[in-house]
Amino acid sequence: MHPTDRVRACDRSSIRVLFDLAEEVGGDLVRLEVGEPDFETPAHVTEAAVAAAERGDTGYTSNAGLPTLRAAVADTLTGEYEDDDILVTTGGMEALHLAALCVLAPGDELLVPTPTWPNYRTQARLADAEPVEVPMPYPYDLEADRLIERMGPDTGAVVLCTPSNPTGRVFDETAVRAVVEAARDHDAYVIADEVYASLTYDHDHTATAALVDESEHVLTVGSCSKTYAMTGWRVGWLAGESTVVDEATKVRESTTACAPTLAQHAAIAALTGPQEPAEKMQAAFRERRDYVADRLEQMDGVTAPCPEGAFYAFLDPAGYEDSMQLAKRLVREAGVVLAPGSGFGAAGEGKLRLSFANSRDRIEAGLDRLERAL
Ligand code: PLP
Repeated sequence: MHPTDRVRACDRSSIRVLFDLAEEVGGDLVRLEVGEPDFETPAHVTEAAVAAAERGDTGYTSNAGLPTLRAAVADTLTGEYEDDDILVTTGGMEALHLAALCVLAPGDELLVPTPTWPNYRTQARLADAEPVEVPMPYPYDLEADRLIERMGPDTGAVVLCTPSNPTGRVFDETAVRAVVEAARDHDAYVIADEVYASLTYDHDHTATAALVDESEHVLTVGSCSKTYAMTGWRVGWLAGESTVVDEATKVRESTTACAPTLAQHAAIAALTGPQEPAEKMQAAFRERRDYVADRLEQMDGVTAPCPEGAFYAFLDPAGYEDSMQLAKRLVREAGVVLAPGSGFGAAGEGKLRLSFANSRDRIEAGLDRLERAL
């Protein structure tokens, strides 16, 4: 007896491997490997959850989530979706997992432009589908033709993560539109992972579903995690046509049943309350982005496209082939923790992801250590 091949085929996240190593090594390390805001959740958001707890609002909600929250999410999605099209999930992760389960048949292919977030591979495998990496060349923008050429009768869905984790790039609208239209022609879904949508630095982000007239095959995933510094509250959403969202609402009854009730109240406050705290965090990320981009540009032997969104820089320290080995050496010998690029697909091998979700001082110290070590 042993666990199934399905789960054994899933990889461990390389970010987690470095996280664990950093915990083991301990001491004075600069931690730039994890992707979560270093800010506290805004006070009015926490207070809304406390108030809900004090009123005794601590039971299950409906599978789909609190109606006020579904309406608030629909409002943030620029009119592309109605309240009924929204399923409130336990973080964006559950939304992505449910989307994969609902639209990928066993053996279907999930196309992922890489380098990209590793979880899509696992989510495809849990649906007995096949993740297919489609590498995007430096500077990792979406080259629609490469993705469209790979579409075929087995394509069940395509994931577009923009702004991108790990590259920080924001995909060009024309390229996204071309992919969305081609996916429709192939009878495939587009899973638009927009959890970083509010974090763009050079231009506003346009929702993928808003780029085409017919967007029934576009499933949009969002989250409170990154925008409102709410990673631990676990509130996200899946938005899409009712045929998919109704099935997702049904099957999640067997996993989480609903997103945590107190967290849903917090999310209502986050989405409908004052936006100044979120705007302040965004401004801080922009300053850090400017600093990181500047430093990397001046660093000998390092190339990195300028991050246009999210809070990551993806750097190529020329001459290193094994990014896991390099990242481990940087922890042990230089005291700086970065995520190995190989975890983001074969296209990421030899590269490193630096998260600037840390204070300016720590980022500066980390970049100093990195520069000396390289
Ligand atoms: N999508 C991307 C690209 C992410 O980086 C993350 C978290 O790191 C998520 C989705 C899911 O985040 P959460 O489940 O906290 O909403």
